[in-house]
Amino acid sequence: AVSLRGLAKRFGETSVFADIDADIEHGEFITLLGPSGCGKSTLLRAIAGLTSLDAGSIHIGGDDITRLPPQRRGVGMVFQHYALFPNLKVADNVAFGLRMQKVPGDERARRVDEVLRLVEMQDQAHKFPHQLSGGQCQRVALARSLVVEPKVLLMDEPLSALDARIRRHLRDQIREIQKTLGLTTLFVTHDQEEAMLMSDRVFLMHQGRILQKDTAEVLYTRPRDENAAGFMGHYC
Ligand code: ATP
Ligand code: MG
Repeated sequence: AVSLRGLAKRFGETSVFADIDADIEHGEFITLLGPSGCGKSTLLRAIAGLTSLDAGSIHIGGDDITRLPPQRRGVGMVFQHYALFPNLKVADNVAFGLRMQKVPGDERARRVDEVLRLVEMQDQAHKFPHQLSGGQCQRVALARSLVVEPKVLLMDEPLSALDARIRRHLRDQIREIQKTLGLTTLFVTHDQEEAMLMSDRVFLMHQGRILQKDTAEVLYTRPRDENAAGFMGHYC
């Protein structure tokens, strides 16, 4: 469903990533795993259209989206820090994208209710973000990206600001929702356990390159080279 070809990005003289080639199947859950600074967030932002590319092309469902503005790419994004509107109630935060699309009020209310149920936040619809826990904020952020029915969901370390118990719970919940919807997902983390437990396949990223794209099991048992082996070992 997603194909990335020859993606490259520089900031001035410095290359952030280069030669990024990857295919993601429809409904697949992919984790992009790599150490701090290897270029994960920048790659995700480039796919979302939030930062420009210096080279390469991105196709989603066969359509070339490389030059489309973010809102026309059919991607939803969830960030590490919740990025909710502090002055809007939960339901209005979630409804925001539908308002932009001029979806009529009754349909809007129905769809907001539906996604709030999906993330188990239907009872909190009238609260403001400051009245929610971190985990609840991330569930609202997830609802907000799901409500516009994206073709691809991008998540940039959505769990890393949360404490361990909530993190595990939300991890399982995200995976369950993703499977229910059959939603193609690219999930960024530097947490190896998270990657191993959640993913259909893991893309191992190091210094702006994708070293290996395999299942967790293959990455453990047959790392492609010393870098991949060292990297997996480093996290053990
Ligand atoms: P982390 O795990 O810490 O979030 P990351 O893998 O997401 O790291 P990026 O945020 O994509 O890494 O950053 C990759 C590299 O690009 C880093 O060296 C960073 O300093 C650099 N970089 C990112 N954004 C900019 C920017 N706006 N201007 C200049 N350099 C940048
Ligand atoms: Mg990052």
